[in-house]
Amino acid sequence: MSSPTFDCTACGACCFGGHDRYVAVLPQDAGRSIPDHATSEIEGRRYMKMACGHCAQLTVTAAGATLCAIYEDRPEACRAFRTGSFECLKARRHRGPQAEALRALAMAGTEPAPPAGGTAPVDLPGAAILPPEAGISPSP
Ligand code: SF4
Repeated sequence: MSSPTFDCTACGACCFGGHDRYVAVLPQDAGRSIPDHATSEIEGRRYMKMACGHCAQLTVTAAGATLCAIYEDRPEACRAFRTGSFECLKARRHRGPQAEALRALAMAGTEPAPPAGGTAPVDLPGAAILPPEAGISPSP
């Protein structure tokens, strides 16, 4: 999830999305251990649960690293998201400030630590202070 140019653990913007259908769980994900509590069903399809404007599995360490709590089992949609792609740059441009604000809160010690084992639902209340992203189209 990183390249010599882009460090995903210092970003996390692509895990932010403006709606509950931001990350679809696809048939290709059937063999992955994505916890049930990490997903929700909307009109017969499964999506990664969102919390406070970002995927609920996005965690921020006390040192400010943005990590996926289910990285090894993350869905296909996340795997297809290429670092440095047009979509990556778009996410960084539109959602980078939100990710940065969340990281700053974590480093200030106002965010909960990532879950032990990396599979518990994560709610990062710091994002609640961020305004809704009205008018920003979601990254794929
Ligand atoms: S599953 Fe992981 S990589 Fe995919 S959006 Fe959620 S936190 Fe990001």
